[in-house]
This record gives sequence, structure tokens and C-alpha cells, in this order.
Amino acid sequence: MPMNQLIRCKNCDQVFLKSPFDSLPEYNPTPGLAPENFQTIERDDFQDFLTHHHGHQLEHLRIIEDSYVSEKAYSEPVKTSFFKATNGREKFVIKKFRERIDEPLQYQLIPGDYSLKCTAVEIQSQEISKQLKRDLTPSPSQDKIDAFLKLFRAIVEGIEVKGLERIPEDSWHPLEVYYKMDDVHLVYLLRNCRSIFKGREYSAMERFIRDHKEDGVLLLKATFEIELTEIVKPDKKKVSSFQPLEKQKVVWKK
Ligand SMILES: [Zn+2]
Repeated sequence: MPMNQLIRCKNCDQVFLKSPFDSLPEYNPTPGLAPENFQTIERDDFQDFLTHHHGHQLEHLRIIEDSYVSEKAYSEPVKTSFFKATNGREKFVIKKFRERIDEPLQYQLIPGDYSLKCTAVEIQSQEISKQLKRDLTPSPSQDKIDAFLKLFRAIVEGIEVKGLERIPEDSWHPLEVYYKMDDVHLVYLLRNCRSIFKGREYSAMERFIRDHKEDGVLLLKATFEIELTEIVKPDKKKVSSFQPLEKQKVVWKK
């Protein structure tokens, strides 16, 4: 969002996201009047922010590119999202949210950072099961499918997604990411299939793994969680605790 400017009030730790649309007037057509008589309603939210923080210290924050993350699907209108910003010295997290669909978006400044923590890595059991029945003729027995899923799950348990290739296609959910299994583990999976499938069925499984490892049902689904690390600043009230010292000085002068 290069067109946007993020402004922080250092006194209040509040932010304002100045978008190019803020200073655009809203036109309110009045019924029965010609278009040139349209009433113009100035909607300058930024002016309100400046008035509210008059005399305070303001600074620009730079939004960190590609830092945007959301806890719900992109299409959800009511959700909480985060992005990162900095003034060059300190890091901030900007929490963007609204409680109801008809409320304007709010931006909250949180001194600190966040990272994404992987909480689960799963195989696509249902999809694999369906695909096996579709691809293999005759369909393997349910026992064999279950045994394959159990084997696959056991192998995936020992895999760290960090080392895997991420599938760039956007998933519908920002915190769900698909990964491709590495060749070493795929070969291991296939080799262990020998204990479940024999003869022609084994050859069919070999084809199945080859056909679906790149972008199909054999992709691993990782779920992430947003982990916020807030930097707790020393309480601003502590500044006022210096006052008794000054009073003491006065006493000393006497
Ligand atoms: Zn202020």
C-alpha cells in the first residue's frame, strides 16, 4: 500500500492510516435538485485526527511490505488483521479490525512484533480417499485405504514444514498453507506401500503418488497461528515520580 501514509501520535500511541480517499468529499444528491446543486459533505477524518492530537508529537511510520496477515479468510468482512510498521528505531504491529460489518475499520498500535507459528501439519485424508477410489480400478478396499492413510500420517509426523517447498497458490484461508512433500519422504512412503499393496495394485500406487505429489491430494496442509509479542514499555506515569526529587532539591536550597 504505497499510497497510504501511516501516522503515529507519540504521546497517545495512536495511529491514523491516511489513505488517498480520506480527503475526498462525499456527494449527497438532494432529490429534486440539479446535479450542480449536489451538497458536498467534507469527510476529512485526517483533519479530525490532527485536531484531536493538536500539540502532540507526530511521526510517520513505514509499513513493512508483505507483512499483512489475517486470522480469517480474505473474503470475511469482519475480521482482525495485522501488519508491521517501523519508525526506523522501533517496531510496531498495527491491528486492523472492526466489530460489526457496518462499523468503520479501526487501527490499533501495538509496540512489538509477531510471527507465525505452525500448529498442525495434516494430510488431506478425505481427498486422498476419494482420489484413490477414482484413480484405481478396481478400487482398493477400505482397509487398504485406511492403512495407507495411517502410514502417510506416521511419515508426516516426522516432517518439519520449514524445509518443504511451499505451494504458491493462495489458499482461501491466510493461515492455511500447502506444502509439497520432499522426494526422500515420498520414496519412503512408496517403499512402505509394499506392505499394503501387491502386484498391479502396487504399480497403481506408484503412479498415484507420482501423479498427485505436485499439486494434488498428497500436499500437506499446515495451519498457522499469529503469535504476538508485545513490548511492554515502562509506564509513562513513572516520569511524574521525578517530581518529589525536584521538591527535595528545593528543600536542600533552604
Ligand atoms: Zn496524541
